Amino acid sequence: MPHPALVPGNVAVVTGGASGIGLACAKRFAALGLKVCIADVGGERLEAAAEALASVAPGGTADVMASATDVGDREALAALERSVAERFGGTDVLMNNAGIQPGSALFGPVENWERVLRVNLWGVIHGTQVFVPGMVAREKPGLVINTGSKQGITTPPGDPAYNVSKAGVKVFTEALQHELRNLGSAQVTAALLIPGFVFTPLAAGGRTEKPAGAWTAEQTADFMLQKLEAGDFYILCPDNDVPRELDEKRILWAAGDITDNRPPLSRWHPDYAEAFAAHLKA
Ligand code: NAD
Repeated sequence: MPHPALVPGNVAVVTGGASGIGLACAKRFAALGLKVCIADVGGERLEAAAEALASVAPGGTADVMASATDVGDREALAALERSVAERFGGTDVLMNNAGIQPGSALFGPVENWERVLRVNLWGVIHGTQVFVPGMVAREKPGLVINTGSKQGITTPPGDPAYNVSKAGVKVFTEALQHELRNLGSAQVTAALLIPGFVFTPLAAGGRTEKPAGAWTAEQTADFMLQKLEAGDFYILCPDNDVPRELDEKRILWAAGDITDNRPPLSRWHPDYAEAFAAHLKA
């Protein structure tokens, strides 16, 4: 059974949808028969992505929308929400996925910190606050997927602004799920996508070939769909062939480090007590 919000005729909005993980997920949603809007910084890349989406959407271009929208601009997101409602009737699936990783230093330029937090964290907060009330009001199954990162959990040294932004996305998404559960009647749920190393322009670092340890964006999208179907909140992508005991540095990044050593939920999550008890018993 697919996730109840991922059904033909429903409407999905994917930010950062012109590339990488966002585009791969948008294509999967379109292939499932959803109407899909991708929002990204404008330009030819966005147009090309919309064409690629239309080629997999059963309804073709009629079921695809592309919008030049900066997720750091709340007004732009509000305009996007309205135009999706006008074109497709409303939003059922929101994937707050746009992200940047230009690198940062703890005492580096403040503009750099602001830029990263504006897109990676404020983009998720704005997107959620702008879209979710309308999604709840639809009184049908809905889904919010926020793209976090293992770096927001394991927080390895080297890029503190990115880590802070992704730790914020994790905490915000847990709080969102808590809020949605407490609404009682709401049929909207949240999930946190936690990719590891995915070979996309964001993480390629000048490489032209996918390193063996990296996932493809398509693999990530397929894994996400599988875990959404299973009803998972934390969609934690396992690492490819990481020799944990041999590679001290990679241990910082490894999924096992998250699942083995920590209770997986924040203490404020509705499932925390149960998960914590299981963790103590293990
Ligand atoms: P990507 O660069 O291929 O895609 C990110 C997209 O976000 C781009 O199309 C970019 O134009 C868009 N974007 C950037 N700023 C924007 C803005 N202000 N408004 C709207 N769109 C904007 O990279 P990706 O790897 O597919 O990244 C997708 C998400 O996955 C990001 O949030 C990233 O942090 C996260 N992530 C990626 C990896 C990885 O290894 N690639 C790992 C963990 C998490």
